[in-house]
Amino acid sequence: MKPKTIHIQDVTLRDGNQALKRPWTLNEKIEVFDLLVSLNVDGIEVGFPSSNESEFFTCQVLSKRAPKGKPIAALSRANEKEISVTWEAIQHADSPRMHIVYPVSDFSIKHVLKISEKEVLQKIKSSVSFARSIVGSNHQIQFSGEHFGDAIQNFEFTKLAFMTAIEAGANIINLPNTVERYRPMIFVNMVKEIRESIGDKAMISIHTHNDLGMATATSVESVYVGAEQIEVALNGLGERAGNTNLYETVIALHQNGESLNIQFDRIYPTAKRISELTGIPIGEKTPIIGEDIFSHRSGIHQDGVTKTMNQTKGAYRTFSPEFVGRFDKETISFTNQSGHKAIEFLLRQKGIEVSKEEIHHLFSVAKSISSKENNREITETELVELSRSILTYQ
Ligand SMILES: [Zn+2]
Repeated sequence: MKPKTIHIQDVTLRDGNQALKRPWTLNEKIEVFDLLVSLNVDGIEVGFPSSNESEFFTCQVLSKRAPKGKPIAALSRANEKEISVTWEAIQHADSPRMHIVYPVSDFSIKHVLKISEKEVLQKIKSSVSFARSIVGSNHQIQFSGEHFGDAIQNFEFTKLAFMTAIEAGANIINLPNTVERYRPMIFVNMVKEIRESIGDKAMISIHTHNDLGMATATSVESVYVGAEQIEVALNGLGERAGNTNLYETVIALHQNGESLNIQFDRIYPTAKRISELTGIPIGEKTPIIGEDIFSHRSGIHQDGVTKTMNQTKGAYRTFSPEFVGRFDKETISFTNQSGHKAIEFLLRQKGIEVSKEEIHHLFSVAKSISSKENNREITETELVELSRSILTYQ
């Protein structure tokens, strides 16, 4: 199933911020908001206004700052008092969106809410209807069924819960994998069933967490069974192992031919700044933004890389560094795993032309230095020096 449209909804300022060891100040949140605007995400969730006064004020400030037409959401629990406060905080956005959350899984209903399913439906109906009565008919209401991904035992009831929300006035149905516990396909099939059950009565949104490291896979695949919105976070911030990573999700969709509004070359600068603003370092091997992801060290890979370096499709590269706003290039470095191509490539880059025999000789010397010194990497400068000292003898 080909997606009609894909909306990238960012929740960094709400789900991301609430899980930080040091939540952001107002000024920092303004900076993050502006980063999201320049990244051109389709919508932004700005916070949870009823949680405290400063959160309320922040949501007001960010709502007023929102560009025309950009949906600005805020989260509310399903009671009239909090819904009213939430609306007060975001109503001045050009396109405010009320987001109400209530649990739907059997486990939560029995062990956390401790009420009957009938009462759950009543609560959904009354809270969404109330929200509709204050929001008016022009604005969107998103209803989240918390722990949707765990609602396997009571799935028929869950379908009914979402239909109740739609009938009470919700336009967007958000399906969260609040805690990632099962295989991606189990979740994806549940999304598919919800799409079949609600038809085109509402937009379907996905909100997944990364407890098992499969949030991106789950979100991306959900798009192909009827999800139209994916909730994501910058640098994968969020509770526990984080929310679905924005960068991975948009690059994966782009690589698969989907068109998105994202300003892709803003990805890397945004990621670096978010790392500074959170104090959370970016891992060397982190997909899309990690320091080491354009480095090649093994002989076979280096051979393929040098032959395809200037082509759009690289033998060992999914996308080019400049596409995501990186100034570093694909690099080749020399270790005891490297091949002759690495030497040839590195020297040629420095304008040093050497014969096949000379490369062969240099290769054995460099490899033996690396092996003797705990398999360390031989730097480009060392190779150049080595080539000078060895080659002049010949
Ligand atoms: Zn969440």
